[in-house]
Amino acid sequence: MSTVAKLPKLVLKPGKEQSLNRFHPWVFSGAIKKIKGDLVEGDLVEVLDSKENFLAIGHSIIGSISVRVLSFEQVEIDYDFWKEKIQKAYDLRKSIGLAENKNTTAYRLVHGEGDYLPGLIIDFYNGTAVVQMHTVGMYRIQNTILEILKEVLGDKLKTVFSKSEGTLPYKAYVDAINEYIYGKKPEKVALENGLKFHVDWEKGQKTGFFVDQRENRSLIEQYSAGRDVLNMFCYTGGFSFYAMRGGANKVHSVDSSERAIQITNDNVNLNFPEDERHQAYAEDAFKYLSGIKDQYDLIILDPPAFAKHQNVVKNALQGYRRLNAKAIEQIRTGGIIFTFSCSQVITKEQFRTMVFSAAARANRKVRILQQLTQPADHPVDIYHPEGEYLKGLVIYVE
Ligand code: SAH
Repeated sequence: MSTVAKLPKLVLKPGKEQSLNRFHPWVFSGAIKKIKGDLVEGDLVEVLDSKENFLAIGHSIIGSISVRVLSFEQVEIDYDFWKEKIQKAYDLRKSIGLAENKNTTAYRLVHGEGDYLPGLIIDFYNGTAVVQMHTVGMYRIQNTILEILKEVLGDKLKTVFSKSEGTLPYKAYVDAINEYIYGKKPEKVALENGLKFHVDWEKGQKTGFFVDQRENRSLIEQYSAGRDVLNMFCYTGGFSFYAMRGGANKVHSVDSSERAIQITNDNVNLNFPEDERHQAYAEDAFKYLSGIKDQYDLIILDPPAFAKHQNVVKNALQGYRRLNAKAIEQIRTGGIIFTFSCSQVITKEQFRTMVFSAAARANRKVRILQQLTQPADHPVDIYHPEGEYLKGLVIYVE
């Protein structure tokens, strides 16, 4: 097509085009035969098969993934291209009842590969869009994304906070800073299923709140009546205030970070001021879980990702197993555990096998009641199964 700007080209080794023919959006460095033209990290690049036929266009990256594909068609990657993708992402959230919902004002607007926008995450919190880039290519078009957000969200958008300081590749020589790039005086309280929470995108982890647990938190509410609940790795305390609304007898929130305990207490107070059912403790999970025999009958285990890379999967699985075995050992008879892993490199099968070994180690009868995953505003491109990162099981312990 004559309108397409001339881009550097990356030619693959014979046979290495197969995954791209199946629309998998990553090109690994080992698949590359040669590069034609000058290529700087973050540039747009055309990917060609070994016979130099067009396969895809993407952002180039230095690392084991060398290209993240933006399009499998030979199109111009311009303002309209980005606008169409972000508009579609918004329309999807609207069609599933999230984008204009009075009870839930926090949702993920753009979920990387799941919205065909690899390297870009946008979470929306009651007027504030928190934009996080994971590739230099996306970071370079930050201003374009800002303009598009203004167009797509209109007066629903009050503030945009850019937060890519710690998420761009380690060796990318880009001085990303976390800063407001639009608006000011943001509203920092958002709603999830009618419950209130403070979001601290400036200092908090990721974009400030884990919107991906929305539906699982909501499910906790259904399981909580009359139970003694332990919310381990509580961070913002999300699971805790749902359990309280669900009629829990008592709720204990635990996190190793003092700051998380403070946030949890603040959030619980926002919803249930001076409710004595709740207590929060700053303590290490493994230590805390050693002394809780028969104290709880609902335990939530939502740890941080123990494995961020393939080469540490084995150790991570051991860590998860130790954690789960402790909870299974100590929970009361008839107790229920919500156990999660958000490590992308750990598969659903590995996670389930790990819980199996933990149950065997604890020597108790365990049944799976429900299998959990991420919600619909974190869509998984069917050709990119790695996008399904959140795995959870609800188990019943005899
Ligand atoms: N369940 C939370 C998200 C958990 S994020 C939610 O619904 O939003 C993981 C949390 O685990 C972080 O807050 C981190 O401080 C905490 N953490 C990490 N290592 C820990 C440890 N060894 N013991 C206790 N908490 C830990």
